[in-house]
Parts: sequence; C-alpha cells; structure tokens
Amino acid sequence: MDMYEIITKKKHGLPLSETEICGFIDGYTKGDIPDYQASALMMAICFQGMTDEEILALTDAMAKSGDELNLEEFGTLSSDKHSTGGVGDKTTLIVAPLAASLGCKMAKMSGRGLGHTGGTVDKLESFPGYNTSLSSSEFFEQVRRHGVCVIGQSGDFAPADKKLYALRDVTGTVDSIPLITSSIMSKKLASGSHNIVLDVKYGSGSFMKTPKEAELLAKKMVKIGSMKGRNVAAFITNMDIPLGHGVGNIIEVKEAIETLRGNGPSDLTEISLSLSAALVSLALEIPIDEARRRAEENLRNGKALEKFKEWIFAQGGDGSYVDDPSKFRLAKYSLDITADRGGYIKSMNTELVGHTAVLLGAGRQKKDDPIDHSSGIVIHRKTGDKIHTGDILATLYANDERMLLSAKETFLEVYKFSENEVSVDKLIYKTVVK
Ligand code: URA
Repeated sequence: MDMYEIITKKKHGLPLSETEICGFIDGYTKGDIPDYQASALMMAICFQGMTDEEILALTDAMAKSGDELNLEEFGTLSSDKHSTGGVGDKTTLIVAPLAASLGCKMAKMSGRGLGHTGGTVDKLESFPGYNTSLSSSEFFEQVRRHGVCVIGQSGDFAPADKKLYALRDVTGTVDSIPLITSSIMSKKLASGSHNIVLDVKYGSGSFMKTPKEAELLAKKMVKIGSMKGRNVAAFITNMDIPLGHGVGNIIEVKEAIETLRGNGPSDLTEISLSLSAALVSLALEIPIDEARRRAEENLRNGKALEKFKEWIFAQGGDGSYVDDPSKFRLAKYSLDITADRGGYIKSMNTELVGHTAVLLGAGRQKKDDPIDHSSGIVIHRKTGDKIHTGDILATLYANDERMLLSAKETFLEVYKFSENEVSVDKLIYKTVVK
C-alpha cells in the first residue's frame, strides 16, 4: 500500500478504492502508518470530500477495526439512540426506559462527559450503586429480562476511530461531514443495534453551527446506516438553548424523573417523545403516529417511570431515589444569578453554560478528572423569555465557594439581552428518514 499515492489521489479529488481505504485503516490502527501521513489524508478529505461509497468503506473498515457487539438474538428490536452532544441533554435517561416499556431492546453503551458536554454514564452514576461496567453475560441477561441496559464503553470498539479522532482533534480536521459520519456511524455499527435514532444538534456548542449543516450530516449518517442494512432516522435539533433546565448530573437525573412523571419541561418532553416514537416505529414497524400515541400513553400512565426504576434496580442502583428524588443531595453552596436589566433574553451561549458546569465540578476537563455529581446549574430563564431587573436567571451549585465565584464570572457571559421581543428557533428543525 502506497500511502503517498493515496494522499496525492485524494488531494486531486479522486475517489479512493475500498482496498485503499481498508489498507489505510488497517495500517493506521496497527501503527504501520505514521500520524503525519494520516493527518495529511484527513486534511485532503476535509477539502475534497468523499463519495458515499468511500464513506461507506471508511465507516465499515473503522467499525470492523475492533470488537463488534452481536445483538442478533434481539432480532429487529435492538435499538439505540445517539446524540451528537449537547448541554443539559439527558434524553437517554427518558428515551431508554420509555422505548423499552414499548418493546424496544435498548442495549446501549454510553460515554462519560468530556469538555462542555455531559455523559450519560456519569448521570447514571448519580444513583448509589449503579454499575456501569457489567460483564458481557450480565449485560445480555439484563436486556433479555428488562429490555434496557446502559453501560460504559467496554471492550475495544472502533479503535481506528479512537486513534483517528484524537489525531483530527489536534490537526483541525474534525469538521468534515465524511469524517464525522464515518466516526459516529462506525461506533453505532459496531454497537450492533438494528434501529438507530440520531439527534443531530446544531448551534453554539455543537459541531454543526447551522441547521443546514446539521441536515447535511444527518442525511449522510442516515444514508450510510441504511446502506449497511440498519433502520436509521435522524432529528435535527436546536442546541442554541440548553435542553430543559438542569445541567449537572444529579440535577439532570431529577429533571429526567420529573419528565418521566409527565411534569418535565416542554422541550425535553418533546424531544424525548419524538426520539422514542421514532425508535418504536422502526422497531415494531408501526406508523409513526401510532408509535407517538403509545409513547405519550406510557409517559402518562407511569409505565415508562416504572421501567426506569426497574432498570436502575436491575443494574445495582438504588431505585428508591426514583420514587423519592429528594434523597439526592445537591451541593452545599448555591448562588443565584440575577438580571441586571429588564427586557428579553436574546440568546444564550450554550457552550459557556457547559463550561460553567465543568468549573462547578460537574464535568471534567481531562479524561480521568473526578467529578462532583451534586454540582451544576438550574437555568430558570431561557432565550425568548421576558425578564425584569432582579429576576433570577439561573442558580449555580458547588461544594466549594471559590469554585462558585469563579464559575459565576464565566456564567455572566452566557446571556445576551434585547429590549425587543425575540423569536426563538423551532426545537426540531427537521426529521430525516431514509
Ligand atoms: N463525535 C464523534 O464521535 N466523532 C466526530 O467526528 C464528531 C463527533
């Protein structure tokens, strides 16, 4: 395999063959191809793009570069959801039990939070005893018995992506649709689910800044997943505003429980219902309207909440917290952020909200940093809201007063105000199905 020739070919905008792409992934994963050649190729792809056939070959090669979860025993019911990363995004905590209560088999591996976005595994560990590292047989048994299991990344899934993503991160080659598509879809394919619903975020704090860019990415991911025989649907959703009101682990878990009780914020409830209905429609092969009706019903009648409690208990967590969320202890110190003027909230910098949560101890800046589950932010006012001087915009929580004060400095930059009424973008810009 001549890496120089492959780089030159792509530099001139020529398509690479499947053999060349597989050879590159294989060689790079094994360490036979140096980073400088891989990064030159990544940059050439950023400028020249890739055909669908090339993206498919790249995705497939990365998916096959390590372990692959075999969920065949669950037939067409195995289901997964993926979010491209958001602030206050606790939808997995709602979608997983809701979809499972309607027959989907949610066999899911989730990540930890890094940087300004949170991770589902951290949120779940807010429950004392919750075990995120089950053995493979325990994982399968739980899905068989309860229809839902969420663990941390185990095994060696898509190692080629892990290596390439780290390289892209430091070589300015993250924001390429072919590369993001292959990166996300290789992990989804290796995770084995037949049905995949993607929540593609746009806005501040997202990879995709505009809904149009997010739509291009969503269409590509749906296409590649479908070419591999999976059922894929994608939602393009607004991340210019944090989802719901809570940011931080315990705070988000409590909000998810409220939502499963039917008392959640409207944006979080809507996205959770939409994602769940899409999964149920794909898995049970029923029309989306009927799936939506069933999802709403199971939110109303408490079956989704019951399934959540059953899941937490099954995985070793103390599910009594679901019945009595006041058992969760929030951080010792809190600080209200108040409006120093009246008017309307024009915009929010979502990424900065996430950074503030990290400063409060709720997230990590480096991979192995410890986190404080009890700290975070409750956002009382969001974009479009009318406010008066002195209104509480948000409350920050931390266990260290100095952290609270330094986080406050960052958080003060979050809001922009206007004297005039502000229109707010739709929550769900578009849905993409095959
Ligand atoms: N998330 C991923 O997993 N990969 C990307 O390339 C971008 C976001």
